[in-house]
Amino acid sequence: MKEKIEEIKKSLESDIKNANTLQDIVDLKAKYIGKSGCITELTKNMKDIPEEERKQVGSLANVIKNEANELISNKENEINTIIINEKLAKEAVDISLPATEIPIGSPNILEKVIEDFEEVFMSMGYDVVDGPELEEDRFNFELLGLPKGHPARDAQDTFYVKGDELLLRSHTSPVQARTMLAKGGNEPVRVICPGKAYRRDDDDATHSHNFTQIEGLIVDKNIKLSDLKGTVTVICKKLFGNDTITRFRPSYYQFTEPSVEMDISCFSCKGKGCNICKNTGWITIGGAGVVHYDVLKGCGYDPEKWSGFAFGFGAERCAMLKYGISDIRTFYNTDLRETKPFDRKEED
Ligand SMILES: [Zn+2]
Repeated sequence: MKEKIEEIKKSLESDIKNANTLQDIVDLKAKYIGKSGCITELTKNMKDIPEEERKQVGSLANVIKNEANELISNKENEINTIIINEKLAKEAVDISLPATEIPIGSPNILEKVIEDFEEVFMSMGYDVVDGPELEEDRFNFELLGLPKGHPARDAQDTFYVKGDELLLRSHTSPVQARTMLAKGGNEPVRVICPGKAYRRDDDDATHSHNFTQIEGLIVDKNIKLSDLKGTVTVICKKLFGNDTITRFRPSYYQFTEPSVEMDISCFSCKGKGCNICKNTGWITIGGAGVVHYDVLKGCGYDPEKWSGFAFGFGAERCAMLKYGISDIRTFYNTDLRETKPFDRKEED
């Protein structure tokens, strides 16, 4: 029996030396101290041992059992420590590494131009108002001096949605009609209404079926064409530079009389002539006029007491001129690389 214990001791020491993994520990426990382990087996067979030897063998078995427990437990701790250290080394964070770059968004260039307009107008006491893009024929045409069958309606190739009553607004002017009607004809109006408009245009570098207008309207007592000129001149100086000169040419719109087209001196060549102004020194930026008698009347204002002016700028056109964009489709495609260079240009 003593020899057997010696044998187990030797085998245990050698197995402990070769154990490298937690699975080895599990196997060791099973082999020596588990239910059918060889040390456990030793104590199970005590009754077969002669009584005079039993005490000594029992004591030796106990010693080897305790020793095995201690050796296996120490080895298990050793392996666990190695595993934890390896894990920590693998998961260590190198705080000196540069962080992953998060791309910073930039404002949409068209949105930026609209905001610039809004800011200038609001500083002059205008309210910014909005209206539906899906509009009724009445607001889009009839109240603006364009009854059904009027030939000028053809010029605004309109997207009709349902019969001939519901359409995608072909300009933002219906917001002006709605605003006047809402005021009830007895208080002044001072608003701008930036927004999208739609026409059945074939898309090319300078035309889009979807475009953005920034229209404005003033209705008050004693408003004259000279007030329009003064206002537009101040606005253009604020938006395009203090040395900007404005020019007004006679034009025709159904909802204003008289009507004008608005030019500004070319901000690029300062009037000398360049490719932006096509060598004329002037750039057309929008249309305007004194609100038509019939429009005031139709929208609930007494034209004998009230008068007003209205104007409209093309937001894309202003953005294209200001940021040197040659194709209007740039605003509507989704390629972010297209707008990046314009942001940089503005920052310079
Ligand atoms: Zn020029």
